[in-house]
Amino acid sequence: MIAISDVSRAFKGTTVLDHLSLDIPAGQKVALLGPSGSGKTTILRILMTLETIDSGQILIEGVPMYDTASGTPHLLPENRLRPVRSRIGMVFQHFGLFPHLSVLDNIAFPQIFNGRARKADAKARAHDLLKTVGLGDKAYLLPDQLSGGQKQRVAIARALALQPDILLFDEPTSALDPQRVSEVLDIFNMIADTTGTTMLLVTHEMEFARRFADRILFFDHGQIVEDGPPEIVFTNPKDARTRAFLGLPS
Ligand code: ADP
Repeated sequence: MIAISDVSRAFKGTTVLDHLSLDIPAGQKVALLGPSGSGKTTILRILMTLETIDSGQILIEGVPMYDTASGTPHLLPENRLRPVRSRIGMVFQHFGLFPHLSVLDNIAFPQIFNGRARKADAKARAHDLLKTVGLGDKAYLLPDQLSGGQKQRVAIARALALQPDILLFDEPTSALDPQRVSEVLDIFNMIADTTGTTMLLVTHEMEFARRFADRILFFDHGQIVEDGPPEIVFTNPKDARTRAFLGLPS
């Protein structure tokens, strides 16, 4: 589903991704962990084409994101990138809802804007998705009339409305009260079970990662230093940096 090969990226001379390679098969639930500044969010932003790469290549379902003919990768032109982009959705840390649109219209608008559905169909789907995330009675409220956890669920419903094959989450629990975290976990597992969506999330919550992911990637200085199932990475990581981060004896 996602093939990242030998990708590097530097900002102002500082290497943020260092020859990173990573293959993610369809349907996998992946958590990206590691110290702040290790490049986790940059990877998500690159997949969303909000950021570019200095070298390497990325394929989404076998389709390249970059033209590498000249040696330096250039993002493909918009018309060729669109099919790739439409497969990927992202839920941002602070949700990014449109404050002046109702909850329902927040979910319906991107479908209409992207030409995915006519207004009536988009709204019908939005109603269905709101029920799915447990907010069937909030359709006509504005985002600011919702709690943080509810806004999070609207943002998830909006991303799901475009039926992406890949969903990216940046710190999905960081703006939530601890008691809301298990609700998010339930919704994530429901999405994975019912749609088979490939899911990548950046988190600093070890317990959330452990309960959600079937694969943990541990980042350090723009490289993946640990890659395995949670039961192994959390109890018996091979890399000294992971052991130190998890507070395990070296
Ligand atoms: P993480 O998600 O692991 O905390 P990030 O991927 O957000 O790390 O960032 C890695 C480093 O790259 C940080 O030092 C950050 O300040 C820097 N960085 C990220 N995006 C930009 C940018 N657009 N311009 C300059 N520096 C950036």
